[in-house]
Amino acid sequence: MERTYVMVKPDGVQRGLVGEILSRIEKRGLKLAALRMNVMDEAIAKEHYKEHSERPFFASLVEYVTSGPSVSMVVEGKDSIKIMRAVNGATNPVEAVPGTIRGDFSIETGRNVVHASDAPESAEREIALHFEESEITGYTRIDEGQLY
Ligand code: ADP
Ligand code: MG
Repeated sequence: MERTYVMVKPDGVQRGLVGEILSRIEKRGLKLAALRMNVMDEAIAKEHYKEHSERPFFASLVEYVTSGPSVSMVVEGKDSIKIMRAVNGATNPVEAVPGTIRGDFSIETGRNVVHASDAPESAEREIALHFEESEITGYTRIDEGQLY
């Protein structure tokens, strides 16, 4: 089953959107396989966003994601990577359609509430960066047979 790394960024936590976001993921039919709240370490944040290290917004991005507690999770399910990107919506909230998390709850790229891995390689890298394998649970959702 495909896994992806998802984060409710500090603005999402501070705005009380954690429950809403988890609820959307669960109701869509994806499984929460691991879940943690913590303040992301600066070195981890820099590693997480290393593809953007040369971009002008890199320093403010690292400051943003380490500015307070965030919620990290491993989300599992068929096509979970593409589905979570669609659930989150476009990076720039101006382009994010209503019905997506960003399209419903944000107006600014620099405060866009959520993260999800963009490809199988990044999902694997990000899950390994943020979680020990022993933290990732395995259980059967009661509706699993009906969804797949
Ligand atoms: P995504 O989060 O959709 O994968 P990117 O990987 O392109 O988007 O960018 C990572 C994060 O960096 C974005 O979610 C956003 O928080 C921030 N970001 C991207 N572009 C900008 C920008 N032009 N100005 C400020 N922040 C940005
Ligand atoms: Mg990205």
